[in-house]
Amino acid sequence: MRIELQTDRFYLSRYYSEAVEAAGGAPLHVSLIPKPDYVNSLVEALDGILLPGSDSDVDPLRYGQQPHQKLGAVHPIKDETDLLLIEAAERKQIPIFAICFGMQILNVSRGGTLIQDIESHVPEALKHEQGAPRDRASHWISLTGKTRLAQIAATKNLAVNSHHHQSIETLGADLIATAWSADGIIEAVEDPRPDRFLVAVQWHPELGWERDVVSQRLFEAFVAEAAKTTEAAGAVVSIS
Ligand code: MN
Repeated sequence: MRIELQTDRFYLSRYYSEAVEAAGGAPLHVSLIPKPDYVNSLVEALDGILLPGSDSDVDPLRYGQQPHQKLGAVHPIKDETDLLLIEAAERKQIPIFAICFGMQILNVSRGGTLIQDIESHVPEALKHEQGAPRDRASHWISLTGKTRLAQIAATKNLAVNSHHHQSIETLGADLIATAWSADGIIEAVEDPRPDRFLVAVQWHPELGWERDVVSQRLFEAFVAEAAKTTEAAGAVVSIS
């Protein structure tokens, strides 16, 4: 989930869980309680982790930078809980599907860095904060071949929505970029190892998922991989 500081609420847009459910999954929300015992015991019972977007930015101190003037709000419990979730998911080797902030914190968890403000750091950048309506596709991305993303999307060029002022600068360990916008901004990454499902996108496939086939295929691919976690566990039980 995310945190709304003004009202002391954990919350999350309905579209994430609705898209997961429509793809055959059983979505659960994770509270932002950054305690290893809580997160680890929860992940024991989960088959996959979806890291959603956030209205906050990852603390740049976590990737060796000082705060730029245009850095947005930083919510320490969001960073800490997501990092614990990633750590637990990596240890259990369960699928990770990361969206927007989720992709950025995933990159940081693997030692990568972020561009703190695209407009300030990338001259000639496209508009990556499109505003409303949020599900409108506003810029093109190019996909590289032979990746999970290319397989799922089944196209080389895709028009996507864009709601971010930060992006990946240097890639974390075992991550490859799988899509770029025309201004050179990384719009998707994944772990290329065949036994690891870790797909991350900078746009928001949950927005307008009901009308977008590629979005549906992303959620379906994630849920299908997560289902293998249960199948694998079931196989162990039936052998014993
Ligand atoms: Mn974008």
